[in-house]
Amino acid sequence: MNCSKCLQKAVFSSPALCKNHFLAYFESKVKETIQKYKLLPNKKIKLVVACSGGKDSTVALYLLNKWGYKPTALAIDEGIKGYRPHTLLDLQKFCRENKIPLQIYSFQKEFGASLDKILKKLGGHPCYACGILRRYLLNQKSRSFDVIATGHNLDDESQSILMNLCNGNLALSANLGPKTGAFSHKKFTERIKPLYFCSEKEVMAYSLLKEFEVSYHECPYAYLSFRGKVRDGLNELELSEKNVNERLVKNFIGLLPAIRKKYSSAKEPQACRICGEAGRQEICRACQIVEQLVGNKTTVLKQQTSC
Ligand code: SF4
Repeated sequence: MNCSKCLQKAVFSSPALCKNHFLAYFESKVKETIQKYKLLPNKKIKLVVACSGGKDSTVALYLLNKWGYKPTALAIDEGIKGYRPHTLLDLQKFCRENKIPLQIYSFQKEFGASLDKILKKLGGHPCYACGILRRYLLNQKSRSFDVIATGHNLDDESQSILMNLCNGNLALSANLGPKTGAFSHKKFTERIKPLYFCSEKEVMAYSLLKEFEVSYHECPYAYLSFRGKVRDGLNELELSEKNVNERLVKNFIGLLPAIRKKYSSAKEPQACRICGEAGRQEICRACQIVEQLVGNKTTVLKQQTSC
């Protein structure tokens, strides 16, 4: 198959593009998203990128750095043996080579236990504790920045839309979209998703073509996650229903203003009685987990969130 723009051999099939044309296509897609949704109004904005050392956040970090936004990388070490140490080493190398400042915070230091230890002690679903504690730290540690960018791609978003629907949690969907907007609070850093319209395959192809040294392995707990099951279902559907993820996301964006309107009057977050961070309950869910750890309570963490 040849590139649809020149006679070179295509390295990507849909659209059929050679290496150079694919890289240009991908970058212009990300730039367009940033411009259309006013994700980064100027280059003076204090930007932090939530990084894991995986392909998505590394691609987002690389492009935002390349385009002069002077990002800082922020990573959370959950403490997942055999997995996170490798991805953080990749990230440290990448940041060193690209002269990007990097901050790493760990569950062990901040909460007194790694995710592996928390699960040993409290049991329950790994993604529940992981999701809550990681979001807590990302939010808290990004407070001196104006905006936090994440590496979420089109497939991630379509999975989130479907998961929230399945769980009857439309209020959470109000904060999806290329940038958060349903709820704003001085203690919540605004989040943006520059790779919003890039499919998982496109991000993977970009990362491989740029030869980024990143891990393509999944978290060892991922197979347990609801997200993983939704992703597998959507991927299977995508085989017979072309662009199902893209259709889902684009239709969702059409509905988003109405969803946001409905939930914008939702209860204001309140300050957690223990840590003072914003939450929906008297004691935020991160403090509830830490209390269980310290108090050796035996409540099993049943619910789950995900990456
Ligand atoms: Fe955490 Fe994601 Fe692993 Fe779940 S799959 S434990 S949310 S890193």
